[in-house]
Amino acid sequence: TEEQLRQALKMESVGRLAGGVAHDFNNMLTVIMGQAQLAQMKIAPGHPLWQPLEQIGTAAQRSSQITRQLLAFSRKEIIEPRPVDLNQLITEAQKTLLRLIEENITLHCLPGADLWPVKMDPSQVDQVLVNLAVNARDAMPNGGVLSIHTDNVHLSQKSCQYLHDAVPGDYVQLVVSDTGVGMEAEVLEHLFEPFYTTKGVGKGTGLGLATVYGIVRQNGGFINVYSEVGHGTSFKIFLPRTSGDAPAGTQRRCADVRIGS
Ligand code: ADP
Repeated sequence: TEEQLRQALKMESVGRLAGGVAHDFNNMLTVIMGQAQLAQMKIAPGHPLWQPLEQIGTAAQRSSQITRQLLAFSRKEIIEPRPVDLNQLITEAQKTLLRLIEENITLHCLPGADLWPVKMDPSQVDQVLVNLAVNARDAMPNGGVLSIHTDNVHLSQKSCQYLHDAVPGDYVQLVVSDTGVGMEAEVLEHLFEPFYTTKGVGKGTGLGLATVYGIVRQNGGFINVYSEVGHGTSFKIFLPRTSGDAPAGTQRRCADVRIGS
């Protein structure tokens, strides 16, 4: 549709611009961090300039993290889509996800049985999971449940009426839900736009969901979002079933994991 084309063009130009700026910016930040450190080495911790120099260093470091995210967003990575089993990739990503979320958040993985393979680059699946998990974590400052579940679904012409961007066919559904703060209509409207963030300076870049959207579209899928303020959010990602075979021995189960007590 015209809206999708607009979004794709926007992503592309934003990506190119961001990549160039981020690269130059990162070089300058290295100088700032280096010089602040050098100056600090010449004075004692009690010196009146110690604190300001410390703050320069910390701010430069945080800026550098943001530019690195920008670079990752704009990088034209070599993508090698191949038939994969999402359940297996989720199992493999679990350790990373547990490290990302807080102690007061429980991770539930509910893998669908005999999942159809989808054609995707495994690193893109990781990116999708990580970006959604980070958002879920940020939406649950007081703890809650992050659940990831998968299933095979057949979308008929009729069921497509109730979904955005849907085309009838066989899909693997990946649902990432949280019991967090949820979103107002205003936020939902701008959700996938590059640089749209409500997280404040130095915290969010607004590139997480733009990246997720780009990856899903690139692989012929689509996303639906359900959110209720005060109750939580659910991202439903539909990825087309592929006829190719996923590598053997991939029907491993991913168990429920609880961290903390
Ligand atoms: P960022 O995380 O850097 O802000 P994103 O593109 O990942 O950028 O998200 C954009 C915005 O969408 C967030 O700032 C937040 O307001 C909202 N958002 C995304 N995921 C969730 C979620 N699971 N629950 C509540 N709000 C969310």
